[in-house]
Amino acid sequence: MQPGGGSFSMSTEIQHFIDGRLVPGGSGRTAPVFNPATGEVSGQVPLAADSEVAAAVEVARRAFPAWSETTPLRRARILNRFLHILEERIDDLAAVISAEHGKVISDAKGEVQRGIEVVEFATAAPLLLKGEVTENVGTRIDSHSVRQPLGVVAGITPFNFPAMVPMWMFPVALACGNCFILKPSERDPSAALLLAQWLKDAGLPDGVFNVVHGDKTAVDALLAHPDISAVSFVGSTPIARYIYETAARHGKRAQALGGAKNHMIIMPDADMDQAVDALMGAAYGSAGERCMAISVAVPVGEATANALVERLAPRVRDLRIGPGTDPEAEMGPLVTRQHLDKVRGYIDEGIAAGAELVVDGRDFRRQGYENGFFIGGTLFDRVTPEMKIYREEIFGPVLSVVRAGSFDEAAGMINAHEFGNGTSIFTRDGDSAREFAHRIQVGMVGINVPIPVPMAFHSFGGWKASLFGDHHMHGPEGVRFYTKLKTITTRWPTGIRAGAEFVMPTMK
Ligand code: NAD
Repeated sequence: MQPGGGSFSMSTEIQHFIDGRLVPGGSGRTAPVFNPATGEVSGQVPLAADSEVAAAVEVARRAFPAWSETTPLRRARILNRFLHILEERIDDLAAVISAEHGKVISDAKGEVQRGIEVVEFATAAPLLLKGEVTENVGTRIDSHSVRQPLGVVAGITPFNFPAMVPMWMFPVALACGNCFILKPSERDPSAALLLAQWLKDAGLPDGVFNVVHGDKTAVDALLAHPDISAVSFVGSTPIARYIYETAARHGKRAQALGGAKNHMIIMPDADMDQAVDALMGAAYGSAGERCMAISVAVPVGEATANALVERLAPRVRDLRIGPGTDPEAEMGPLVTRQHLDKVRGYIDEGIAAGAELVVDGRDFRRQGYENGFFIGGTLFDRVTPEMKIYREEIFGPVLSVVRAGSFDEAAGMINAHEFGNGTSIFTRDGDSAREFAHRIQVGMVGINVPIPVPMAFHSFGGWKASLFGDHHMHGPEGVRFYTKLKTITTRWPTGIRAGAEFVMPTMK
């Protein structure tokens, strides 16, 4: 993939982007990148060695003094130009995302749009970095607090949003005056290169934003590097836990977002048409490869459950599935053959555990794309909390219906689950909705909203095993994560009393 201009072309050798230019891999190790719709290899991504990571960090370290001294207003102007470039070239970026990830083009554009919103937020850098002042904390003594950048920070991102998740991180990090090393997913690495080139086109100085491709070797090199001040991670829970613990051991600030199992409660008074529409998009959009996908539907009461399954089943059978380039397709293939096998394995497990398979997507074939990583929409009924398909994240187009007898049972199930990323309730009853929002142990909650992804000026993050660290991403939490607080206490000669003081200073 060769980024630049408003066009792109596929090439087999994908490169790093360091110090403002493409740099070929030097480790001798590569990984194949696939077109998930055809199953063909479309490129080879280099897997960086320690020395290549170190070279990128050194470039960023050298760029930091000038970038951090660039005024917030000037940094914001560059982000503003980047924003316009993104808007103009959104089709190019969506095409690259779809080609390597497999999601349909309209969905890829949606992902870019959500990323653009974080850039819009970050263009308020001068406002976001305003500190606090208190006049007269003591007689003729004033205090003010400022937020200063950390230095070089790293972002390690998953395959499922190759543009949006990096954009949860770097616009805010750059706005705050940091330099950034992005280690994108090795499964769909090319979107990151377009973003790097477009930042350069917008006027970002070389070395401030770098892309280093790789696997565990590159990640470990970033985690151990003494010049990396903070690490932002999004991916699966076992790796998120590892990143958080390892980064902390090396004295780094870390935020590590993990996996999910998002439940939607459907109360007996819910509008069933709205609930079914919401579930279809939330469970099957992007082939279920979203951390905010709804993978568990919890209808309350037998009548609600029967009505729900009856309406869902034909809709799941009729899902339009095809390559990302098919404008009619609602859902594309999975990202790799390995992932396809894993999702199929979960369906086998569900059947063996005694769940009722209402719609079976395992045998889906699309003519002309027989080698693609396609699977059909799958619906299970009568899933129970002990089953593996309930406990674990499947990350595919598989929706489990777990029947609950009451609101308390449904909410209790969610609170007992390992993950706490997102959840929602469909109801017309304000009391149930309020109780749900108050009691539920989950970071992002929707009331008649199936995928409650916070907007850029709020912050994104889950609870429990869905997030390790103290700060959520983007919004005000992002600014706090990417800055350190300094508080200055000031007095001038007229405020200074004569004589040395040996007791703990108190304000008089
Ligand atoms: P992943 O954990 O396999 O990979 C994420 C990143 O970690 C990649 O850059 C990868 O190269 C790196 N990595 C993989 N194995 C590693 C190892 N052993 N040591 C160090 N680094 C390693 O995740 P994925 O399959 O790319 O993405 C899907 C997962 O991401 C799902 O679990 C999904 O829920 C989660 N996700 C979470 C959120 C959220 O906001 N909580 C958002 C998007 C995706």
